[in-house]
Amino acid sequence: MRQGSSTPETPVTPEREAESCAPGGKSRRDFLKSSALGLAAAALAPGKLTDEAAPAEATTVVHGHGKKRILLKDGIVLSLDPKVGDFEKADVLIEGKKIVAVGPSLGHAGGEQIDCSGAIVMPGFISTHNHQYECLQRSIIPDGIIVFAGNAQQQSTAWPYEAYGTVVQSIWTAGRLPDPVAPGTFLWDLGRSPYDPQDCYISELVACLSQITQGVTMGTDTSQASHTPEYSDAMIQGLMDSGRRMVYDYTNGTDRGLSEFPGASGDATRGIGRLAKTYFNSKDQLVTLGFAGGPGPAFAGAPYTGWQLGREFGALINNHNVGGFQTIINAAADPRNGTDWSDVTQVHCVRWQDNASAQISIDALTSQSRAWEIFAANGGHSSIAVIIEMQMRHGMPPIQMALDHGILPSLSPDVETNMTTDPFSMMRGAFCVQRALANDLVFPISNPNNLPAPQLITCRQVIEMMTIAGAAANRVLDKVGTLTPGKEADIVVLDASNINVAPINNVAGAIVTMMDTRNVRDVLIAGKIVYRSGKLVGWDTRRLVRDITRARDRVLRRINGPALVGTLPPGQNSLSNPYRPNFLGSCCYKGQNTTAPEYRLRP
Ligand SMILES: [Zn+2]
Repeated sequence: MRQGSSTPETPVTPEREAESCAPGGKSRRDFLKSSALGLAAAALAPGKLTDEAAPAEATTVVHGHGKKRILLKDGIVLSLDPKVGDFEKADVLIEGKKIVAVGPSLGHAGGEQIDCSGAIVMPGFISTHNHQYECLQRSIIPDGIIVFAGNAQQQSTAWPYEAYGTVVQSIWTAGRLPDPVAPGTFLWDLGRSPYDPQDCYISELVACLSQITQGVTMGTDTSQASHTPEYSDAMIQGLMDSGRRMVYDYTNGTDRGLSEFPGASGDATRGIGRLAKTYFNSKDQLVTLGFAGGPGPAFAGAPYTGWQLGREFGALINNHNVGGFQTIINAAADPRNGTDWSDVTQVHCVRWQDNASAQISIDALTSQSRAWEIFAANGGHSSIAVIIEMQMRHGMPPIQMALDHGILPSLSPDVETNMTTDPFSMMRGAFCVQRALANDLVFPISNPNNLPAPQLITCRQVIEMMTIAGAAANRVLDKVGTLTPGKEADIVVLDASNINVAPINNVAGAIVTMMDTRNVRDVLIAGKIVYRSGKLVGWDTRRLVRDITRARDRVLRRINGPALVGTLPPGQNSLSNPYRPNFLGSCCYKGQNTTAPEYRLRP
């Protein structure tokens, strides 16, 4: 596309038409009303073809004990459960939601039989941290870095400097740009988030369905977009309508006086209490509750911690922690947070080392970390957004620190504004960064201090990060994460006969070093086939893409609409009047590293 033409490929949708985009074609007001009551699930979501799987499937169903049976036949089975074992050729029998048997030649048990010869059958991939409301902002800031306010090691936090903080968080999410010289005031303020709840809804839905096509059967939505109760309701509804297993990790948005975050102890009418009561009464559902409140006071003056508040309402704890080793030390010093942290996940966990040192060594001195020691002792989980941390300047992904402290970290995609949610990319990222750092220590010229080189991780171990560790962090290891009889059938079938991987000589190696999302053939969640032979079951993907594109257009139009305060000034790279992200050039080339010269390169 020509630089001068407008970004949207699709026609700009009139607001009136956009209103009909709410689930089931209801008006936006009706959608919000019903979703607030948790009733919108009865309506068909946008792009949904039918309530059930394809009709052809129904003709092959035989009911055993009144439950649908599916036999995954003759696959290479990677159960990841040592008690079950792995098989060069075996079957997986599913009855209703659950796996009932794994082993060779289970025979035709009645029901549907799916030929898995030439395919790998394994647990679905699981990630543990993803801001899914940002799906409509995909790759908006691919050359940008994160930028933390007040961090001298970071660059400017102020517009026109373009980075995650200014573009994604200030412009697209909060709808206001802080004035760097007058704290508490704004250069530009729309008076609202540019998103409506329905824009969050379609982002959640598309993110979930997109990741099903990538083989990620469970994720954790850490959307920082609960600006009002209606936004939280819409996001939860998007997750529930998708049919994907999820943790909704309740997180604050931009508070303009209408936020109900975080709620309060004993109060089921607002915040975490309201959400728990409205949507999460049952443990036996695909979407479960998490809470982003931290180990300090739940809110200013609260006599209890955020962790206590989340636990009171049955939520797991999932917090961001970027360089916050002192937060962990303080959390452990407060007896209200307990010593069993098996329900706690900390995201990123970068720069937790006690001493100024690279995060690679197993040397007794340089790899010391009080925070990691506490974490190991208390049973906490780590979610490492490995490719994002490398790209966005969070700090070196702390894979080695986690391994040195006996912790198998889970992996997470974090933000689609900068990077894919593809699990193969995440696994390769973890595999390669650990080995790159460790391998370099073997060479004296790269290791003047003669640090000992750590053990290298294996393909199998990174597959376990993307399955078992995710299930443990999301508190569902008793339900999924391995192919174990009695667990629910969240399964991915990977095509191992494709020209990009065949012939297979090592199964784990093929998955981690060879495969990509084209190899994802079938996906089951709780025994239901949700993706089959490369197609989402029951969804019209063209409509979904149309709807999220229209949502992107609506949000962009609001950004360019009338503001309460000021006008959006030009950025260094984006186009202005009207504002539009740079489509063909870099989002953020100028000034991402203000202390280094520009490259002058020759081919
Ligand atoms: Zn994050």
